[in-house]
Amino acid sequence: MEELAINGGPKVKETPFGTGKRFGDAEKRQVLEALDSDILFYVFGTKVHEMESKMAQMYGMTYCNGCSSGTAAVHIALASLQLPPGKEVITSSVTDMGSLTGVLYQQLVPRFADIDPENYNMDAAATEALVTAKTGAILVVHHAGLPVDMDAFVDIAQRHHLPLVEDCAQAWCAKYKGQHVGTFGDIAAFSLNHFKHITCGSGGLVLTNRDDLEDLVKLFVDKCYDRTPGAIRNPYFLAPNYQMSELQGAVANAQLDKVADIVAQRNELGMRLVRGLEEIEGIIPHKIPDYAYAGFFLFVTRVDPAIINTPIPEFCAALTAEGIPNEPKKVTGGMATYLYSIFQNRSAFPQSTLPFASQDLGSDVSYPPGMCPNAEDAFEHTFNIPFTEFYTEEDIDDIVRAVGKVAAYYHRA
Ligand SMILES: *Cc1c(COP(=O)(O)O)cnc(C)c1O
Repeated sequence: MEELAINGGPKVKETPFGTGKRFGDAEKRQVLEALDSDILFYVFGTKVHEMESKMAQMYGMTYCNGCSSGTAAVHIALASLQLPPGKEVITSSVTDMGSLTGVLYQQLVPRFADIDPENYNMDAAATEALVTAKTGAILVVHHAGLPVDMDAFVDIAQRHHLPLVEDCAQAWCAKYKGQHVGTFGDIAAFSLNHFKHITCGSGGLVLTNRDDLEDLVKLFVDKCYDRTPGAIRNPYFLAPNYQMSELQGAVANAQLDKVADIVAQRNELGMRLVRGLEEIEGIIPHKIPDYAYAGFFLFVTRVDPAIINTPIPEFCAALTAEGIPNEPKKVTGGMATYLYSIFQNRSAFPQSTLPFASQDLGSDVSYPPGMCPNAEDAFEHTFNIPFTEFYTEEDIDDIVRAVGKVAAYYHRA
């Protein structure tokens, strides 16, 4: 048995991981052009519009609108559906708070579907079990860059006559049966935050083919101001200012040219990691179904406690000592989303239980711990292996060797 580095043995990873820069000449040129134009307001500028056209074309969609964040994008998408307060939105029990912010601001009531224990995506059967007369929409989350089973979700939405929103914040360029996610539902949201495959610091995108939704998206981005030349300003519903600036648009414009290659690289490295880890007893890598082309935003790795005789934090500390960065108990968010205090305490708004419990809305929903066992279990028995598109195949092989070494050491006799 090899001595673990944490116990004084030699460590597996001796060469530095591949690195690189996300921004280069293309981004600089775009930003300087925006500044030189002397206009940073998206309505009068060219950068946001150019970026929107590029994205719409890449995805084969009619409309794309830039906005200030992925959270804003989800909020805009939901608001465009014009659901009355009190309607329920079914989403994943493992997601970013950004999936929920817009739900709550629209006074919609979230319902959380449990996940598949192998691929960590929201489960179609669990979703359908939550559909009632109160359901207003289904918000699917393509978690960790892995498409959900879209045939199943499209079918559920159609049979129940429900709009389908896709949260693609983690799933740039991911494909389901060869088709981009974000093109299946009524409307889709993307994020350009720092952690996502591409970024402009903060930013978001909304994609749709529906003319009626597009009209509302444009208004909801911008205080319900109709920016059509000559239009009379007369807001008729509540809308925030979620504008994307020309500076964000400029950087996003350059980043969009790179995103397919970035995702292709991550897909190749991720699939190599899956194949490597599959060979290790007691380690269950992120399961990638045959239908999926995945972008590996996260790489969730399960440790089977029946085979590996050590808790996740110790396993991860040993892996760190081998020179492999990792994040114990890190699926998106660090705990099942409904365990956040805001849901446990029903405290979205001060001194109010809106929209969770309200006589006016006819709502009374709470989220008891244990509600989604697969989601809660995922945070107990997994760790994330972060990697970037700059890693090399050698880096991936070193990760596999290190995980194998630690797993062998803690293998139950
Ligand atoms: C990142 C993320 C968001 C929110 O995007 P921001 O740009 O951070 O506001 C929404 N949903 C999911 C699934 C995300 O990962």
